[in-house]
Amino acid sequence: GSALVWLRRDLRCADHAALYHALRRFERVYCAFVFDTDILDALPGHGNRREDRRVEFIHASVLELHEGLQRLAAQSGAPGGGLIVRHGPARECIVRLAQALGVQEVLANRDYEPQAIARDQHVAQALHILGIAFSDYKDQVLLDRDEVLTRQGRPYSVFTPYQRAWLERLDAFQLRPYPVDRHARHLAPPPAGERLPALSDLGFAATNLRQLPLPTGMGGAQKLLQDFVPRMAAYQRARDYPGRRGVSYLSVHLRFGTVSVRQLAALAAQQASQGCAGAQTWLSELAWRDFYFMILWHCPRVLTQSFKPEYDRVQWDEAPALWQAWCEARTGYPLVDAAMRQLLHTGYMHNRLRMVVASFLTKDLGIDWRRGERFFARHLNDYDLAANNGGWQWAASTGCDAQPYFRIFNPITQSQRFDPDGTFIRRYLPELARVPDAHIHFPAAMKPAALAACGLRLGVDYPLPVVDHARARARTLMRFSLLAGGT
Ligand code: FAD
Repeated sequence: GSALVWLRRDLRCADHAALYHALRRFERVYCAFVFDTDILDALPGHGNRREDRRVEFIHASVLELHEGLQRLAAQSGAPGGGLIVRHGPARECIVRLAQALGVQEVLANRDYEPQAIARDQHVAQALHILGIAFSDYKDQVLLDRDEVLTRQGRPYSVFTPYQRAWLERLDAFQLRPYPVDRHARHLAPPPAGERLPALSDLGFAATNLRQLPLPTGMGGAQKLLQDFVPRMAAYQRARDYPGRRGVSYLSVHLRFGTVSVRQLAALAAQQASQGCAGAQTWLSELAWRDFYFMILWHCPRVLTQSFKPEYDRVQWDEAPALWQAWCEARTGYPLVDAAMRQLLHTGYMHNRLRMVVASFLTKDLGIDWRRGERFFARHLNDYDLAANNGGWQWAASTGCDAQPYFRIFNPITQSQRFDPDGTFIRRYLPELARVPDAHIHFPAAMKPAALAACGLRLGVDYPLPVVDHARARARTLMRFSLLAGGT
């Protein structure tokens, strides 16, 4: 019989659960990807001029995947593999395609986002009416939503015990790759006349993606991994400094599945077993990813509400001018502004800075975390509903196991600690290049003579601070303490 593998956020043809199961069970296996207009139409912009780094990243990765499937088929003597690509509403395209190809089953890797779950249910039902089966597999996560539960069989809401249980559960079996190549002779060629759409056919124009050090596709992920492996030992020490190359930069590849999370975890586990502490720390970071997928699955209301419902009584400020200053990197706090420029210019932001700017928005500017979350959703290459929502609720103190509300990051001391000589700040705020290290974290405190010495005009070359941190902090404590009082 024959089957169709529907790829979504798993754009690779190695160590792939759904593809492996299809190839093992069926004689002829087709592979398809849909540029889903249900998702694309919701992106800002219109006409053929829309720009989105993620769409471009996916497009490039899809082309590479098509070639990868062809190569895999050729190596195993199959008549020719490749990817069938469609552009339209996925829930309809996949059903139509499955029917046209005459397959018995559609296989996919499991998705945990509420919209994706609804889409998959819709597709499964439509296929069922046609007598076609639908099955989904764990692939995106290391341990699934129901694989790490408390002794009472309930989901964890505190990270540390979850992580402990997660590490215990993560054995060699869980890290084993799905050997797709062993069964690749079953790959079927796409029907005659298929062609892959160009980026412009999708209504999108090129972004600055090609100028960024962000290689796309399966090849790009392996390149970044090779670059990171020798740095893994130093991860623990270097990870918190945005000015250094301390982290892996693999998040966007994990987001679109151009790399297998099992490959990454197996490598880290192997290095950790040889005593590499950095690898152990990095492996534990991957637990956060599973944790937030698990939370979103068990508690989808976090999409719009605080994990701790009482925190939805917090009264946030509208503050349009402050909001605009944050979005446009004009707060007068250099680390915050440099971080926001990094986001706008590259679509990436270092983890330490995500915490700093999220804290700044909610606790210095008093603005609802949901607005920041939506802004990140629009701009992050690695935007992932579960991790982003979890990160924002953590920073805003509204989430599960969140930062307590009275722990408020000081944007100046964070800057002194994590970008001590202003390397990162100067990279994104060239207007501060000549400000001495001692003042780079808060130029507003400079005396006129010091300003004149480096030729900086505050309020002209660089904005004055939009709020006073000490006063903002006091207001936030008030804002949150009303909750504790139960009023
Ligand atoms: P590394 O330090 O190399 O970590 C390796 C991998 O571990 C990451 O790629 C990621 O998959 C996972 N990971 C690490 N930390 C976390 C975490 N706290 N939560 C979930 N996964 C984690 N991560 C996203 O992938 N998408 C998001 O939309 C996202 N939004 C965030 C929003 C806020 C406010 C905060 C505080 C964090 C957010 N994170 C998000 C988590 C984290 O900042 C990024 O995963 C990380 O910066 C990506 O860079 P890296 O791949 O170099 O990380």
